[in-house]
Amino acid sequence: MIKVKLIRYDLNMDEEKDRKEYKKIKDKCKKLKYKVFDYIAMGEKDEIPEGEYEIDTSCLFDTQYNTIKTKEHKGYRIHDWLEPIYPNRRLKKGYYLENTEELKKLVSVTYECKYCGKQYTQEEATKVKYCKKCRGSDYLKEENYNLIILTKIGNKASKGKLPDEVIKDIKEQQKETFKQQIFKSNKDKLYSLQQDIEDAKVEYQGYLWLIEHYIPIENVIYYSYKKTFCFGWKEPIKNRKELEKQLKDFKWKFEIK
Ligand SMILES: [Zn+2]
Repeated sequence: MIKVKLIRYDLNMDEEKDRKEYKKIKDKCKKLKYKVFDYIAMGEKDEIPEGEYEIDTSCLFDTQYNTIKTKEHKGYRIHDWLEPIYPNRRLKKGYYLENTEELKKLVSVTYECKYCGKQYTQEEATKVKYCKKCRGSDYLKEENYNLIILTKIGNKASKGKLPDEVIKDIKEQQKETFKQQIFKSNKDKLYSLQQDIEDAKVEYQGYLWLIEHYIPIENVIYYSYKKTFCFGWKEPIKNRKELEKQLKDFKWKFEIK
């Protein structure tokens, strides 16, 4: 479990002691190699409160992190050092993190696939070298192959080339993906044909019953999407009671209009 401490500050550069305090913060953040994350403040409503936060290490970034949700909050996205820019530039309001040594160390030994984002420990990355998760993706094009070379979080994608056997593996896996997709769409087609057959059977039996009972069928339609025979779809049924009587033993779903 990795926890960091979020320290807030709210300073006014017109005040001597605040200026000193701000310099201290800046020096501290620079020493920690934090880069400030700034943006134009837009009525900051839900400021992240000062306090200790547990980091979600299942998906790491190099300068920002997700915190684990607790009873009090749903988890935050926090930055090493964040400082919104206020219209009054003399105001310096923001926060920075403390106790990030362990987290930084973990980030520094975590690798990721620049294509799918899967993260690997150093040990795994040394063994695997090229991401295994996304090789079958049909969106993975040759010009992006380098993205699956595992690189450290925060580093740019490697420009290297993949070994032949990895390329071969990608092609094979993509072929398999493609085959599965064809299989799935073929299966879907087969399923819809089966549905049509089932519907036609119901329709056939329903009409057969009507014919055998001398009930006119010109004004009847079968809606397969709601599996319902509709009486009076062309023109409203005049003698509803009479028809209901006639359909007493009609065992399919129907409606009279
Ligand atoms: Zn990947």
